[in-house]
Amino acid sequence: MLQLDIHPTGRHFLQIPGPSPVPDRILRAMSLPTIDHRGPEFGKLGLKVLGGIRQIFKTKHPVAIYPASGTGAWEAALANTLSPGDHVLMYETGHFASLWQKMATRLGLSTEFLAWQGADAQLPHAPSWRRGVQADLIEARLRKDTEKKIKAVCVVHNETSTGVTSDIASVRKAIDAAGHPALLMVDSISGLASADYRHDEWGVDVCVSGSQKGLMLPPGISFNALSPRALEAAKAAKLPKAFWAWDEIVEMNKDGYWPYTPNTNLLYGLSESLDMILSEGLDNVFARHQRWAAGVRAAVNAWGLPVQCADPAVYSPVLTGVITPEGVDADALRRLIHQRFDLSLGTGLGKLKGRMFRMGHLGDSNDLTLVAMVAGVEMGMKLAGIRLAGSGVQAAMDHFSSHTAPAALQKAA
Ligand SMILES: *Cc1c(COP(=O)(O)O)cnc(C)c1O
Repeated sequence: MLQLDIHPTGRHFLQIPGPSPVPDRILRAMSLPTIDHRGPEFGKLGLKVLGGIRQIFKTKHPVAIYPASGTGAWEAALANTLSPGDHVLMYETGHFASLWQKMATRLGLSTEFLAWQGADAQLPHAPSWRRGVQADLIEARLRKDTEKKIKAVCVVHNETSTGVTSDIASVRKAIDAAGHPALLMVDSISGLASADYRHDEWGVDVCVSGSQKGLMLPPGISFNALSPRALEAAKAAKLPKAFWAWDEIVEMNKDGYWPYTPNTNLLYGLSESLDMILSEGLDNVFARHQRWAAGVRAAVNAWGLPVQCADPAVYSPVLTGVITPEGVDADALRRLIHQRFDLSLGTGLGKLKGRMFRMGHLGDSNDLTLVAMVAGVEMGMKLAGIRLAGSGVQAAMDHFSSHTAPAALQKAA
């Protein structure tokens, strides 16, 4: 039975790959009084966060901020640029790519879903959900589209359901090599501010992101980073849009305001998050995530369990998907770990339901938090009767103690 009057002692271990833990600094910033969103102070806050978020996306162009979850910003990306019946080429990396495709279909677009094709297609656990995008498939498809019917190519940058990243620059190269005018749209909801992302350099037209992953904020705001071509396409696009329409937002954003009531307190939080991330430096942030991911994978390898991502070149720096042994229900294991150790892990989504769990290693974390997560998982697996090849805790400790953190290096210098 739920005993709501008894609160566990200590901190809950929120190790799902988003929402990620919110730093106290951000929680405090958000606790300030809500101000007049048409008043003079607000404009300064608006201009600050709009400027800062551009640095995170690495873009000179406008970024629309919505008081909505990431799903809303997915819809905004499609509704602003496309017309009913338009053909869209999407790529199936996992559950989130599938949800975006489902949404595009519901909006009245005609979608085509490419999936990984390779020699070891007999790989268990959804083989196409174990690799990143194959840009050559996209290039070949675009070359065949001599009438230029395909209006957009949509790819997920960090597939949160699997722990696999995709090489976005290679997709832009493929589109250009095919000489095709399709827009490039990217979901980096869980990649932004954890995994390397370069909006302008990679030639992305619309990038969708959200607050509750790498930005370390609560859920509730999301983003569309734009390109001049995306803004141009929006002028002719005929899908119905009003709340999501970029034109009024971009216009009012010039002075730091929005056409509707923005999420004031979350914007205080965003301002704090931007200060934290930009003062650390994006390259340090990315290196920190890579190092954590390697430590967690060392633990999984020591346990003798397979990682969902089958290509080491595209391991996610944000999360690691772990396949449980045959006959072990990953969700029952997650429940046991939650009950015994107050540790939340990500569930297996879609095709991977019950077959895997996801360990988040993003945002406001550190080596010892991750060692504790590994310890909780290891104890839980032993309690569940799973035979492990070795100690993941020892492997993670060895990894973290022998690989100096980039930020610690700076402190010592
Ligand atoms: C979290 C996530 C979403 C969904 O965002 P919501 O904020 O839950 O609407 C979509 N795509 C990816 C890759 C995600 O990680």
